[in-house]
Amino acid sequence: MRAAGQIVAAILDLLKGRIKPGVTTAELDRLAEEECLRRQAKPAFKGYGGFPFAICSSPNERVVHGFPDKKPLREGDILSIDFGVIFQGFYGDSAITVPVGEIAPETEQLLTATRESLEKAIEKAIPGGRLSDISHAVQSWVEPRGFSVVREFVGHGIGRQLHEAPQIPNYGEPNQGPKLKAGMVLAIEPMINAGVPGVRILDDGWTAVTQDGRLSAHFEHTVAITDHGPEILTRL
Ligand code: MG
Ligand code: MG
Repeated sequence: MRAAGQIVAAILDLLKGRIKPGVTTAELDRLAEEECLRRQAKPAFKGYGGFPFAICSSPNERVVHGFPDKKPLREGDILSIDFGVIFQGFYGDSAITVPVGEIAPETEQLLTATRESLEKAIEKAIPGGRLSDISHAVQSWVEPRGFSVVREFVGHGIGRQLHEAPQIPNYGEPNQGPKLKAGMVLAIEPMINAGVPGVRILDDGWTAVTQDGRLSAHFEHTVAITDHGPEILTRL
């Protein structure tokens, strides 16, 4: 899982470096697929439940599961990329939200709060804790900052399957649910909205957008719980 996680991290880092005004998400998708091939990994999402692409690309008000397309990114946009691979039988899964050129200060605040909420959640991925400590860490970080937690999508266990038990909501009271143990691997992924928490699905059957059309951010890491604390497998 370390090897799979490092491939995900390296490819996401490469994609991040390409993001600028004028670039299309279709180009990023093609690059992700080529890089998988070069590393003898397979894109985890392509074909998953019929999803047709290597990356999920979700600009601006799109929350998750967006389709790459040929529309050029514009200065001031934000772009969430969710990406996973399978390598030698194991999955890695990670997501980042990246500014396109200069973004507004309040947009930067959304990205910062979402990234920080993931860090706070990861700190709770320790033996002896309970699953909902992770959930609570996200909610209690972003809501006081004026942002809202998407309810319809959640983090998940990961291993030989992309989505394994347990589901990991990004909200809830602490000290509930399964006890966390060394050896568990979790994909923790806050999806945070600037406005209302509600989402709707576009006619493509996949793309989730915010109900109010305001921005949404998404960060994810695959995290192993060890006796020495959390190990982030999808960090370079
Ligand atoms: Mg993901
Ligand atoms: Mg995931």
